[in-house]
Amino acid sequence: MPFASVVLDIPTRALTEPYDYRVPDRLAGQVDVGATVLVTFSGRSAVGYVVAMDEEPPAGVDPAKVRDVEEVLAAPAFDGVAARLALWMAHEYAAPPASCLRLLLPPGQTVKVVRDDGSGPWRLVNEQVKAADDRWVRLGEGADGYEPRRNAVRQRELLAALAEGPQRLAELKAVVPGAQGAVTALAKKGVVVVEGRRTQGPATTLSSARAAHPERLSDGQVQALDAVDAAVADGSGGVVLVDGVTGSGKTEVYLSAIERVLGQGRGAVVLVPEISLTAQTVGRFRSRFGDTVSILHSRLSTGERREQWERIRSGEARVVVGARSALFAPMADLGLVVVDEEHEHSYKQDQAPRYHARDVAAELARLRGGALVLGSATPSMEAVSRCARGSWRGAAWTSVTMEERPGGATLPAVQVVDMRSQFAANNNSPFSAPLRKALVENFEAGHKSVLLLNRRGFATFLMCRDCGCVPTCPHCSTALTYHERTHELACHSCGRTWPQAAFPNPSTHCPACGSRYLAAYGVGTQRVEDELRMMLPDAPVVRMDADTTRGKGAHQALLEEFDAADGAVLIGTQMIAKGLDFPEVTLVGVINADTTLKLPDFRASERTYDLLEQVAGRAGRGEDPGRVLVQTYWPTHPAVTCVAGHDRAAFRAFELADREEAAYPPFRRLGNVVVSGVNGALVERVVAQIAAALRSQAEGEQGWQVVGPAECVKGKVADRLRRHVLVKAPVDGDLGGFLARACSAVDSRGVSVAIDVDAYDL
Ligand code: ADP
Ligand code: ZN
Ligand code: ZN
Repeated sequence: MPFASVVLDIPTRALTEPYDYRVPDRLAGQVDVGATVLVTFSGRSAVGYVVAMDEEPPAGVDPAKVRDVEEVLAAPAFDGVAARLALWMAHEYAAPPASCLRLLLPPGQTVKVVRDDGSGPWRLVNEQVKAADDRWVRLGEGADGYEPRRNAVRQRELLAALAEGPQRLAELKAVVPGAQGAVTALAKKGVVVVEGRRTQGPATTLSSARAAHPERLSDGQVQALDAVDAAVADGSGGVVLVDGVTGSGKTEVYLSAIERVLGQGRGAVVLVPEISLTAQTVGRFRSRFGDTVSILHSRLSTGERREQWERIRSGEARVVVGARSALFAPMADLGLVVVDEEHEHSYKQDQAPRYHARDVAAELARLRGGALVLGSATPSMEAVSRCARGSWRGAAWTSVTMEERPGGATLPAVQVVDMRSQFAANNNSPFSAPLRKALVENFEAGHKSVLLLNRRGFATFLMCRDCGCVPTCPHCSTALTYHERTHELACHSCGRTWPQAAFPNPSTHCPACGSRYLAAYGVGTQRVEDELRMMLPDAPVVRMDADTTRGKGAHQALLEEFDAADGAVLIGTQMIAKGLDFPEVTLVGVINADTTLKLPDFRASERTYDLLEQVAGRAGRGEDPGRVLVQTYWPTHPAVTCVAGHDRAAFRAFELADREEAAYPPFRRLGNVVVSGVNGALVERVVAQIAAALRSQAEGEQGWQVVGPAECVKGKVADRLRRHVLVKAPVDGDLGGFLARACSAVDSRGVSVAIDVDAYDL
């Protein structure tokens, strides 16, 4: 009689081991790994997921005491390898196992369990799943010679995707907001045709519209493909980092590598940041792989995602392109995982389970006997250092560099403007003289400009307008954060605080040069817009920030406005740095490179460098060469000088040396435990107990260090006090297990405890 190992989905029992249940004769054959079952636990019914099966009763347990599985609520949805991945995540990220297993369930199978009347059994609620929209769109007779109106950005985006071949309407709608309206308009003109899947004919018709392969792969591409081939053949989760500048042909490497993997009868999963999942990307994958591609986008309806899930599970779809959650698609015989833009912070999930998709992808590739490809123009320090070591967690890590663009397009010239001299020259505006001049010239030439306002870290630190100095912690290389409420300067790395008086009155005097012009630093998009309108009264100005993009489709509408107007200037925050592709943009101005540099975050330099590199890449994508002006109070900082010199290697060397000296990732692992609650005294008590438990565990252990407790950067959110403790661990240390052990030893009723392993936002 078989036995099932079941992970219970009970909210109050967060961190538990699986429990064993017997499969009664009446359920024989129905209970298997991946099934959702109803069992009895502590005298109550509970929902659980089967993670393993065994013919023998569990060791050390009286078989007579093992209870029966009561009911099968849902048929098996995942295999044993997927279950192992989820349980690995649960341990690795100190997350409830059930929360990881839920990621593997079919979309629409909600595990929310309800008790009918407080006494009856728990039961599984299946979300109503609407039938998926099965229509396809292709170019019609009227497409020949049809030229969309200038400002019809959506139409152009659609036509670009359709030029690659027929597309699913649901996918177009997911990646291009407002696509439905554009499709309707184009269908009326006969430019496109909408039809049901069945009238399309067999899948081969779709894939017959395959995009041409490049005539010849570049040397870098050949080298990268060879490395991927070797890793796939080896089948032990080897990782290849494709470290190539934007436009060097990384996507082409992914496409070719996937093609080879498909040829071996194996499948592939491609992760892209949600923001890069554009119609063009979708079109590129679909044109190469036809109907075997499944696109998973968060904007697809539950029914549409369910349909994709079934297509993957049945083996009809062999390539999955999507955001983080694509890792959990039921893909059999997975040979290759690709993580594009692997440095993107959005790969780190900010809610439990707080996993990093890149690292889960590595484990998935290893468990499936496949390989992992990472791609980026600005690889994370983690990826760079693992490649330097040659291995990580038992898998081989190699990198291939691609510095050239196949078409021979050049990178834009970058000029650094020292804002200290501007201030000395009595220029108090957000625009330096060189940027003013460049903006005027560019407008007069009828070209477009983009202005980036770096808003993260706005006004949270003090900066001297004379010398650029920011008070930093004497014990860490971290900028002190100014807390307005308490008039204190705080270090979020070591937790020390200083009363305002410890520095020569920080609101008026600079500790370095004595200048009176020490002030909370920051300037808003509105101010930039106002000054720009005064400077260039005739220029069309489009402002894109959290305020102007609030409404649905507002983002797209602003981009259309920008695209339509000659000589327009787009002012925006970080949201404009990526994906923006307007050939007419020949000038990019960065108003303030410094704000992210001085954030109390050890990744501040890396983030700034990535942002500057990305935004610089927006200039000169067309025929006219681009130029970039970076305004900064810190012109000698490597994040600035390395972007200006297009010197990627120099930046990495600087950054790695800095991290090693300060004992930060990638040389250590970093864990963050955040305790929050409305009862301030209780929060302080629990966080102190957790810190003490962590310290006693770390005692005598090489390379473990506990920092804090301290106030979080956001010390109070919605009346909840927030305190945290940091743990630094050796690179190979079991950080998840370490944090889980200490936290479960402390009674934390009345507060919430969030464990973040490999934390990004502290
Ligand atoms: P990345 O992903 O690194 O930004 P892409 O793969 O998108 O680069 O390539 C950039 C452009 O160069 C695309 O238009 C692509 O079609 C083209 N391209 C890529 N590889 C080659 C090649 N070997 N020969 C010619 N053109 C290529
Ligand atoms: Zn100063
Ligand atoms: Zn400090």
